[in-house]
Amino acid sequence: MKISKIGEFGLIEEVIAPEFKELVNKHLTGIGDDAAIIPIDEHTSHIYTTDMLIEKTHFLRDKISPYQLGYKSLSVNLSDIAAMGGKPIASYLSIGLPKDMEVEWVEEFMKGYKSLSEEFHVPLLGGDTTSSENNIIVNVGVTGKISTKHIKLRSTAKADDLVCLTGKVGDSAGGLQIILNDLPEDPIAKKLLEHHLTPPPHISEGLWLSQFETVHAMMDVSDGIASDLKHILKASQLKGTVELEHIPMSNELIRQSEHYKWNPLELSVSGGEDYVLLLTVDKNEYETMAGKFREKFSKPLYQIGYLEKGEPQIIYLKNKKEVKDLKEGYSHF
Ligand code: ADP
Ligand code: MG
Repeated sequence: MKISKIGEFGLIEEVIAPEFKELVNKHLTGIGDDAAIIPIDEHTSHIYTTDMLIEKTHFLRDKISPYQLGYKSLSVNLSDIAAMGGKPIASYLSIGLPKDMEVEWVEEFMKGYKSLSEEFHVPLLGGDTTSSENNIIVNVGVTGKISTKHIKLRSTAKADDLVCLTGKVGDSAGGLQIILNDLPEDPIAKKLLEHHLTPPPHISEGLWLSQFETVHAMMDVSDGIASDLKHILKASQLKGTVELEHIPMSNELIRQSEHYKWNPLELSVSGGEDYVLLLTVDKNEYETMAGKFREKFSKPLYQIGYLEKGEPQIIYLKNKKEVKDLKEGYSHF
């Protein structure tokens, strides 16, 4: 059977994870969340995550600068630590490079990587360097720490929670359209490209939100809400409704979408690589929390939908009417 038949998540759930079921004891959080959790003592846990970026699959060498690629390689991993509510401590970098690459390329890559390491005080502690036949391969691992009672899983959402986002979505997918279609890089396009090439990780937001018991579940948006919210619904066995008129989008995305006849909702919901946080919040606490969030971060905690008891699936509404033909989020193979 070809792997394309079962896809990325089928492969993980049916072929990779089951082999290790009996080795993973109940104190560990393993495959299936944004990062793994290993308890250190009664109160504290270690978090570990790893993510890979491969040339031609995740990026095109002539469309991303080495500085940007260095930044993004670390950022997508920090985002998974943020998704658990954790504080990153250190990173590992493994890199496979074709022989004919310039040392200056690697210097620039490391500058981008370091800028983010400095911002969040996350030193690089090790890794591996190898040659690669044709493509650049980057794999980063990040360790972090968390107070055990603050951990936010995908599986702990509750019926009647509201579904929220810590930022706007769709700019990254808009940036990808600019790249794939070789569109002119005017100032608006540059804004979208910036979100695609150097997405900032929502570490501060994740850490802050993790203190609240009324935040029940959290993850980061890497494949698009259409795919990522489904992970929370499946893990928590709940039904979700997304109100499309509440999806937060930038003016830049809306203007470029009008100009190029893109569907901005599709880019925002199914596009992916936004690296904002998707969380579920006790509905009675939302107003208070959103007020505090705005004071702290000078932006709204966007509410985009709600959860109910029911089969894990997403219902999309636009002005209360059901919308059926939205694309799925991203999945490899
Ligand atoms: P994320 O987008 O948050 O990084 P993924 O969708 O990539 O998460 O992966 C889903 C889950 O499957 C994660 O818990 C991840 O650690 C796990 N996973 C993915 N690939 C593998 C693998 N090859 N071996 C073990 N676990 C894996
Ligand atoms: Mg994630």
